[in-house]
Amino acid sequence: MKPVAIIGAGITGLTAAFYLKRKGLPVTVYEAGGRVGGVIQSVRKDGYLAEFGPNTILETSPKIAQLVRDAGLESRRLYSHPRAEARYIVRYRRPIEMPGSPLGFFATELFTAKAKLAVLREPFVPRRRDGQEESVAEFVKRRLNQEFLDHAIDALVAGVYAGDPYKLSLPHAFPRLAELETRYGSLIKGQIFGAGERKRRGEIAKDRAPKFSFDEGLQVLPDTLAAQLGGCVKLETIVAKLTQTSDGWWLNLLTKNGATSAEHSAAIYCGTAHKLAELKAVFGRSALPRGPEIGAAQQHRPTSGIDFSPFSEIRYPPVASVVLGFRREDVAHPCRGFGMLIPKVEGFNILGTIFSSSLFPNRAPAGHLTLTSYLGGERQPELALLSPDKLVGLTCEDLRMLLGVRGQPAFTHCVVYPRAIPQYNLGYGRYRGLLTEIENQAPGLFFAGHYRDGVSLGDSILSGCNMVERVGKFLTAK
Ligand SMILES: Cc1cc2nc3c(=O)[nH]c(=O)nc-3n(C[C@H](O)[C@H](O)[C@H](O)COP(=O)(O)OP(=O)(O)OC[C@H]3O[C@@H](n4cnc5c(N)ncnc54)[C@H](O)[C@@H]3O)c2cc1C
Repeated sequence: MKPVAIIGAGITGLTAAFYLKRKGLPVTVYEAGGRVGGVIQSVRKDGYLAEFGPNTILETSPKIAQLVRDAGLESRRLYSHPRAEARYIVRYRRPIEMPGSPLGFFATELFTAKAKLAVLREPFVPRRRDGQEESVAEFVKRRLNQEFLDHAIDALVAGVYAGDPYKLSLPHAFPRLAELETRYGSLIKGQIFGAGERKRRGEIAKDRAPKFSFDEGLQVLPDTLAAQLGGCVKLETIVAKLTQTSDGWWLNLLTKNGATSAEHSAAIYCGTAHKLAELKAVFGRSALPRGPEIGAAQQHRPTSGIDFSPFSEIRYPPVASVVLGFRREDVAHPCRGFGMLIPKVEGFNILGTIFSSSLFPNRAPAGHLTLTSYLGGERQPELALLSPDKLVGLTCEDLRMLLGVRGQPAFTHCVVYPRAIPQYNLGYGRYRGLLTEIENQAPGLFFAGHYRDGVSLGDSILSGCNMVERVGKFLTAK
C-alpha cells in the first residue's frame, strides 16, 4: 500500500502519523519548515527554558494521557505545581486572584454586588430559542451582565484566542458553553448537573483539568513523536498541489533541491487555514491515470479544481510572545500561580502573563523567575509587529505597574507569530461545512487540526487521534 500523506508536522499531524504507523499503516509526513512542532517551540538558553508558543497541555481527555504513555514520555512529563493553581485577573489596575469556590466568589473584590447578583439570577434567565448564532459578548450580556463581559470574559477570551468577544461565535469558539444552555437551560445548572455526565465520558472540564509540560518544555512531545516516526518525516518540503488518481492522491512537492512528486493512498491536511488557501487540488477520481504521466494527461480529463480560497478569510491575528527573566528580588509580587489575564478596559499593552517558573521547576536559574507575556491579538494587532526592543519596553512598563518589577530583565527573548490563532468568529460554520463538503466530494482527502476541531493543544491531539479512525475506515473500505 502507498503511504498516507500527512501535510504538516505540528502536533495534529504528528499525532495522526504516530498512531497510523502504530496501526501498521505506512505514512509520510511533509513539513514546510525546518523543524517539527508547528507553533510549539521551547528553547533553553542562559539557564532559562523559554516557551514561545503554548505553555501547557490541559489533560481534558484520557486520550491525551494515552499519547504521553504511548510515546514513552511519562517519566519526563511534569504536572504543574499544585501551588500554581491561582489565576489572577487585573482590576483596579492590579492583579486580583480569581475565586476558586462559590464562597470565594461572593467574597471577592473582583466583581461588584451587581455582578454577583447577576450570577444568582442566571439560572432563571430563559434560554435562547430562535436558533440565531450569537457572539460570546451577546451571550454573556444576555445571561450575566456587561460587567462580567468587560472584567472577566474579555480577559479569558484574550487568554485562549487572543480574540474579540464581540466577533467570536459562541457555538464555534465555546461549544461547551452553548451546549450547557441548550441542555440545562443555564450555565450554573449545567456546571452542577453536567459534572456527572463528564465523569461518565471520562472527560474533565477545562477549568479543572490537570496541566502539564515536559522536563525540557513542550517541544519534547513533537520531537519524540518525530524521532519514533524516523525517516518518514520530510522537513523543508512544501506540499503545493494534490491531484486525485484512480488509486489515491498524487502530491506535487517543493523541496530545497527542487520540485518532486509522490503518490499516496490518502492525504490528511494538518496545516493552517491560511496555507490551505494557497494549496491547489484537482479531483475527479476515476478519470485520472496513475503515476507521473498525470501532468500531460489531466488536461483532457473531466476533472475539477477544489477552491480553497475561502479559507484565506479566516483571521489569524498576530501575537508576540515576550519571555523575560528577572532576579527574584527585583519582582515585588510573589508570582505564585498560573498567571494573570488583563481585560481591555484596564488599558494595558499586554494581554496577560504566565508565571512560567512558578508552573514548572527548571524554567529559570536559581534565584530568578521567568514571566511569559503576550501582546497583540485582535485587541491591538499592531503591537505584535513592533521591534523586539519596543516589545520588551512595553512589557516591562506593564509588569512594573502590575507586578512591581524593578530594573532591567536578566533575560529577554521575543517571538512574533504573524498569524497566531484562528478566530472562530461569527459565521465560522461556513468553513467547517466547506471542509466536510470537500471530504465528501474528494474521498481520501481529510482535514484535521486547530482550524477545524478547536484551538487548544488537547483539541489538536484529539483531532489527530480521530483522524486515525477515519482514515483507517476509509482504507479498509477501499
Ligand atoms: C502564541 C500561542 C500560544 C498558545 N498557547 C497555548 C497553550 O498554552 N495551550 C494550548 O493548549 N494551546 C495553545 N495554543 C494553541 C496550540 O498551540 C495550537 O492550536 C496547536 O499547537 C496547533 O497545532 P497544529 O498541528 O494543528 O498546527 P500548527 O502547529 O500550526 O502546525 C501546522 C504545520 O503545518 C505546516 N504546513 C502548513 N501548510 C503546509 C504545506 N502545504 N506543506 C507542508 N507543511 C505545511 C506548517 O509549517 C506547520 O508546521 C497557542 C498558540 C499560539 C500561537
